Amino acid sequence: MKNLIENYENYFVSELQSRRFQPETYYQIISKILKKNEKLFEIKELGKSFEGRPIKLFKAGKGTTKILLWSQMHGDESTATMAIADIFNFFINYSEEPEFKKMLSKISLFFVPILNPDGAARHQRLTAQYIDLNRDAIRLVTPEAKVLKNIQNEINPEFGFNLHDQELSTVGYTDEITCIALLAPAFNEKQSDNEVRLRAKKIAASLANILNNYIPGKITRYDDTYEPRAFGDKMQSWGTSTILIESGHIKNDPEKFLIRKLNAISLLMTFFNISVENYESLDIGIYEDLPFNTYKAYDLIIRNVKIRYKNGTIIDADLGISYQVNTHTTNSPILMEVGDLSTFVALRDVDGNGKEILEEDIFIEQEFNLNKYFNNKNYSV
Ligand SMILES: [Zn+2]
Repeated sequence: MKNLIENYENYFVSELQSRRFQPETYYQIISKILKKNEKLFEIKELGKSFEGRPIKLFKAGKGTTKILLWSQMHGDESTATMAIADIFNFFINYSEEPEFKKMLSKISLFFVPILNPDGAARHQRLTAQYIDLNRDAIRLVTPEAKVLKNIQNEINPEFGFNLHDQELSTVGYTDEITCIALLAPAFNEKQSDNEVRLRAKKIAASLANILNNYIPGKITRYDDTYEPRAFGDKMQSWGTSTILIESGHIKNDPEKFLIRKLNAISLLMTFFNISVENYESLDIGIYEDLPFNTYKAYDLIIRNVKIRYKNGTIIDADLGISYQVNTHTTNSPILMEVGDLSTFVALRDVDGNGKEILEEDIFIEQEFNLNKYFNNKNYSV
């Protein structure tokens, strides 16, 4: 099974190349894949989004251990949705493998890709009602949140995977950019452990073990402050051991192909681990000792420029530029910080060669006129 999973090229869905796609396009691509073996998946419409887009469930397996996965509750966080397409392709390709059949006799998988299709269609975090779906687990005012709560109620899964993309961040106090962050959310303010959360921590430890083979030193623990309005935290209190996987960043990979591959591989291996129950003896310290995310990174740092103030003063400085609003990459360079960025890292780190920047062009947290000073594509991300 491990060999099949590691040969990612054999099941990578090449039709999905860009992180921006319409939900309809995604459904078309996966229905073409699933047609090759119509018996493998049961497909059901769970409900509709605020704007009437379908929210679909794809179920595979007949086992008693139930696993629920949902992705893109934030509409611009599509990496795991793309990995789910790869996972479906894996299932189709290897449906006759004895080990695979055995796995699907032990577990049942319930996938809800693109929980927020209206947000996905606009490539925005919020739903069409401007609500953060991951802060609607208590009131359930959005149709999308109701869909997720209803399916959790109906199937009462043992495990839940809440799949996101995260903001650009660094690994603890190292210079590494976080590739993937994991979280076994708290179910109360004290962040105590019970049986449900401990099981989630063991799965997180199992994921960390798998990911360590590919991206050692680039894995973090996501902030585990209790957020009762979030689904991860609520699921944990509803009895579903829930793990968040947050897709981060890597240099020179704007479409996140490597992180998507790691999502697919680590999820497939985790399904297998759950099916043979070999996560139970794992040390939760593997998860708990992961460093937290820190925020010492920008999309672009231009080092070694000079800033000329209106009164004639000139200083040496670096420029920290962001192309992100939440996790969504924009096209406008936003100037976040000027000054000493020697303790910061960047997805793209370039030398400004002492270029003089005028005070009148400096607006913090606003668009920076990059082309005026650096009209060269080396300076774009
Ligand atoms: Zn998110």
